[in-house]
Amino acid sequence: MSLTDHLTTRIRAEGPISVADYMSDCLLHPRFGYYTTRDPLGAAGDFTTAPEISQMFGELLGLALAQSWLDQGAPAPFTLAELGPGRGTLMADLLRATRGVPGFHAAMQLHLVEASPALRKVQAETLAGFAPRWHDHVETLPDQPLFLVANEFFDALPIRQFIRSGAGWSERRIGLNNGTLAFGLAPATPQPALAHRLEDTRDGDLVEICEPAAPIAESLATRIAAHGGAALIVDYGDWRALGDTLQALRAHAPADVLTTPGEADLTAHVDFEALALAAKTAGCAHSRLTPQGVFLERLGITDRARALAAPLQGAALDNLVAAHRRLTHPAEMGNLFKILGLYPPQAAPPPGLNP
Ligand code: SAH
Repeated sequence: MSLTDHLTTRIRAEGPISVADYMSDCLLHPRFGYYTTRDPLGAAGDFTTAPEISQMFGELLGLALAQSWLDQGAPAPFTLAELGPGRGTLMADLLRATRGVPGFHAAMQLHLVEASPALRKVQAETLAGFAPRWHDHVETLPDQPLFLVANEFFDALPIRQFIRSGAGWSERRIGLNNGTLAFGLAPATPQPALAHRLEDTRDGDLVEICEPAAPIAESLATRIAAHGGAALIVDYGDWRALGDTLQALRAHAPADVLTTPGEADLTAHVDFEALALAAKTAGCAHSRLTPQGVFLERLGITDRARALAAPLQGAALDNLVAAHRRLTHPAEMGNLFKILGLYPPQAAPPPGLNP
């Protein structure tokens, strides 16, 4: 039995499934899911993320959160949380960088939201000594001040895709064509959740909705508005996306979305407007979207790179220079990746963000 067999059986029984159902099975099926069964990160894996490129990323995010904690009067105890921590690299770098912030480690309780048993195991090793507690969902995070990071978490949540047809929308679905997985379209129906997209689309345009994203943002924002805190949400995407952004990545190269289910990473661009609106509804303030390159420069990445470079030479120095460029240059991750900050209305935004 493979994930392809499981999907084929499921579609024969239920009929064509949504892109969201397909993504959920591919990424998190208990037996065959991509994240459930493996550690996909790093050179030997399928993709690399900012914290895996350089320690500077987690260090600077950590210092931004710690500054925000100080600005809000150093509340104790508080929750230090991460959504989808991968190998735990970002959190380990964050914890090392904040060791010198008086009271920060003593007041923090570490909470990780992670769906993958395989990655929880890696995180337990990376973060041994910090007594992390794991959660399946954000709802079970404690009701107390919440300082949180999420890097490339929201892009892994399942999206639905719709193609505009007059005043209605046809959902893109995955069915079978001669026994092989294939895209198709459901008949057009009205979609109240897409009413606002009738303003900026034309017939034939494709839009995406990530249904789980807004409730997660709202849950974080409710805690931050009530108890204080801040969230730094980092991902690729934009304010209101248009077009098909579903992509598969395998061994660091783009792959076909339907040919190797469960063996490639599947992501979609994040619709930051939906996160910001949900946060606002919950009474939280949010920053404007800030490009990653600008954010990291404001936090002093170039000075940090110089300090790290001082004892280096040869290949190690070249690697550091390349990592700095990769994280910040507009032609690399600097512009594609954005940061949205959430914070209490009466507090200052975390440093580095466009207020
Ligand atoms: N933040 C890490 C890893 C990004 S990969 C980094 O930057 O390197 C996406 C992470 O989110 C993985 O840890 C994956 O297992 C987790 N994840 C994906 N979907 C999830 C869900 N629905 N609930 C909880 N964790 C999820």
